[in-house]
Amino acid sequence: MLITVLGYYGGYPYKGHGTSGYLLQDDGKNILIDCGSGVLNELSNYIDPLQLDAVVLSHYHHDHTADLGVLQYNWQLDPTNRKHDLLPIYGHTQDFVNFAQLTMDGVSQGIAYSDYEPISIESLQFEFLRTIHPVPAYAMKITKGSKSIVYTSDTAYFDGLVDFAKDSDLLITDTNFPEDKAGRIWHMTTKQSGELAKSADVKRLMISHLPQKIDAQTMLKESQHYAGSIPTINAFTGLEIEI
Ligand SMILES: [Zn+2]
Ligand SMILES: [Zn+2]
Repeated sequence: MLITVLGYYGGYPYKGHGTSGYLLQDDGKNILIDCGSGVLNELSNYIDPLQLDAVVLSHYHHDHTADLGVLQYNWQLDPTNRKHDLLPIYGHTQDFVNFAQLTMDGVSQGIAYSDYEPISIESLQFEFLRTIHPVPAYAMKITKGSKSIVYTSDTAYFDGLVDFAKDSDLLITDTNFPEDKAGRIWHMTTKQSGELAKSADVKRLMISHLPQKIDAQTMLKESQHYAGSIPTINAFTGLEIEI
C-alpha cells in the first residue's frame, strides 16, 4: 500500500495547503480517504481524479468533505473518461442528510459502512470504530495481508483507540493541539498522540490534522517525545509512505 498526503490541516486550508485527504494506492487501485478543502486540486497532481476507484469519508465535517461536490462535478462533466460508471463513495448513515449527498444521479453512489461489520473495498479490508467527536465520526483500520494502517479520523482521546491501533504499521492521528492544551477538546494533543502510538506499539506514527498557527516542528518534537522509540513524522503535502 502507498499512501500520499494531499491535505493535513484541521478546520480550514492555509497558505496553499489543504485539509484532510489521503490517496491510498494498492494493486492498481486508487482510493481517496477524506476529501477536504484543496484535496481535489492536489489529487490531480498524482492521478486523473476520474481514475479513482472509491472515496471513503470518516465523517461529514467540511474539512473532510469540502471538495466532494466538485469531485462529483469533475465526474459529471467528463463522463467518457471515467474508470467506473458511478464513483463509489463510502460514508456512515448516522446523518441521513449528508449520506444522501453522496449519491448523485448518474455520477456517484453512496455506500454505507458501519462499525459492526468490516467491508472490502477493492483489495483492502476496512474496519471502522466510532470516535468521540461533536458529530458521528469513524476511525478506520485498513488491512492488506499482514499490513495495516489505522487512521483515527477526528476524535478526542479514548482508550478504545489503543486496541484498535494495536501493532499497526502506520498510525495517522488527529493531532490538532499542543501538549499543554487544557479544557474539553474534540481532537488529540501531541502528548495523547505520542502516548497512543507507544501504548499501541505501532511501527510508525504520522501526526496530521495539524494546527495552522503552531509550527509543525514543534508539534513533531512534542509528539516524538511521548512516542518514545516509535518513529514519528508530521504530515505534509506530498508525503508518501509505503506500507
Ligand atoms: Zn477535522
Ligand atoms: Zn471533525
